[in-house]
Amino acid sequence: MHFTFVSDHVALDFAATLTWRTSYPIELLTEPADLAAWAVQAGLTDDPGQVTRAALERALLLREAVYRTAVAAERGAQADAADVRLIRERASGPQVTVALQALGRVERRGDIEQVMATVATRAGELFGGDDRHLVRPCAGSTCTRLFLDRSRAGSRRWCDKLSCGSRANATAYRRRRKAASGPDPRTD
Ligand SMILES: [Zn+2]
Repeated sequence: MHFTFVSDHVALDFAATLTWRTSYPIELLTEPADLAAWAVQAGLTDDPGQVTRAALERALLLREAVYRTAVAAERGAQADAADVRLIRERASGPQVTVALQALGRVERRGDIEQVMATVATRAGELFGGDDRHLVRPCAGSTCTRLFLDRSRAGSRRWCDKLSCGSRANATAYRRRRKAASGPDPRTD
């Protein structure tokens, strides 16, 4: 499984491992090995060790708390107190360690519990600080990924220009062409 990291924040990338939440939800973390692969691809640990199904289930609880809190941040709403508590509690455990070996080389050490503690810590920093105002939903019609808009103009619309952005532009182009030339006999 190849995961996508385009949200500009690891906690939001984690929340996006359940995709297309409002239309055709696809769970990307169905097996413990999927969570292990995500942790490595996220650059959080070199080796998360054995991941149990119980650890996966706990991780998914954290993920959903992060997602709901991110939605609340984006809408300027209050976060659910239980979600806030869960994120705080998961952040209180031991974190991954980053051990510098040489210029350009570090070893990232931590099991999956430490990885989740670090994700929860980063989520806490995000939601507890001013960057929470930068959380945006992707403008893609089926995409439910949230990202941080760090563009200077505050105009970022897509989680990923190459997927959601170009798909939306192609749809808009077909609509404009249709409007200009009358009904198109072909079906889109
Ligand atoms: Zn998107």
